[in-house]
Amino acid sequence: MNNNIYDTVIIGSGPAGLTAAIYNIRADMKTIVLAGNQPGGQLMMTTTVDNWPGYANGTGGVKLMMEMQAQVTNLGGEIRQGNVKSVRALEPKSFSVTLEDGTELQTKAVIVATGAKAKWLGIEKENELIGKGVSGCATCDGMFFRDKVVAVVGGGDTACEDADFLTKFATKVYLIHRRDSLRASVVEQKRVLNNPKIEMVWNSEVVEINSTVESQKSESLKDIKIKNNKTNEESILTVDGLFMAIGHNPATEFVAEMVERDEEGHVVTGKNQEYGTMTSYEGIFAAGDCTTMNKNYKQAIAAAGDGCKAALDAEKWIKIER
Ligand SMILES: Cc1cc2nc3c(=O)[nH]c(=O)nc-3n(C[C@H](O)[C@H](O)[C@H](O)COP(=O)(O)OP(=O)(O)OC[C@H]3O[C@@H](n4cnc5c(N)ncnc54)[C@H](O)[C@@H]3O)c2cc1C
Repeated sequence: MNNNIYDTVIIGSGPAGLTAAIYNIRADMKTIVLAGNQPGGQLMMTTTVDNWPGYANGTGGVKLMMEMQAQVTNLGGEIRQGNVKSVRALEPKSFSVTLEDGTELQTKAVIVATGAKAKWLGIEKENELIGKGVSGCATCDGMFFRDKVVAVVGGGDTACEDADFLTKFATKVYLIHRRDSLRASVVEQKRVLNNPKIEMVWNSEVVEINSTVESQKSESLKDIKIKNNKTNEESILTVDGLFMAIGHNPATEFVAEMVERDEEGHVVTGKNQEYGTMTSYEGIFAAGDCTTMNKNYKQAIAAAGDGCKAALDAEKWIKIER
């Protein structure tokens, strides 16, 4: 028996990957987590997490993910830095996972938990103001904008849902779209266009994000400059919050040849009757934001739940003789 063969190689170290690891390690499976370029995943970018159950007053994103990583290592699990370049099938129940540094690992099953990053505009100040007024997640941050004025960028279903959701808290929501009609479903369009708190800003793009400059510590979003792409006219919108809803990029390119993905790149799960997290390739499981099953949720607790399911699916599948 080759002791270097893993039972599961888990690709990704966000809530989905680390939860999967906790379950597989506790099932006495030889498990490794490959952490990628962002150990701990997307929650490492946020200060406060208010919706992770068990913390009466919320907790810090970094603290939560550091605790989760420590839980994995305290249970005897292995976490290794580095990005996965490819996954290859060697024979039934045997895969080779290659990292960008050339390291090859052999495993019986693979769990892909590589997340999906929100698309950003890529303009100055955007990155440094994440968590200080700029957000990629209305569900996560909406509550912090009670009685404030916010803007949402996008024109699809998510942008409309986010704009509508934000009217629960904000006094006014601008929905900025670069075209003159929405791409969202008719139902979503109607909801937005009939909501008196939402003002459409058509044919427009955000070209500048400005912050208060009192001190770097208390820096926060002050206003945005928008440009009408028909008239080239520029104007300033004073907003407290700016929410991007222009899509996500699932980090799944490295399995593109192996498994079915949707048009955005989410790995298709949920089709197998017996194993909910199995992909189109037997033995490759997927969990969290990178999957079609979770693409409409994109929340840490949902990703963690999915990680638990993937771990249990992989455990059961490895045991079964075929
Ligand atoms: C600023 C911000 C604030 C948020 N706030 C909240 C909140 O308050 N509450 C909430 O529930 N959700 C929040 N979210 C959403 C939440 O972070 C995600 O839903 C959750 O992290 C998804 O978990 P995941 O494990 O699927 O993926 P991720 O957390 O995205 O983790 C993906 C992992 O995969 C790794 N990876 C990627 N590619 C590779 C590769 N090729 N090889 C190896 N590893 C790879 C990355 O390094 C990372 O470790 C927030 C997101 C952001 C960006």
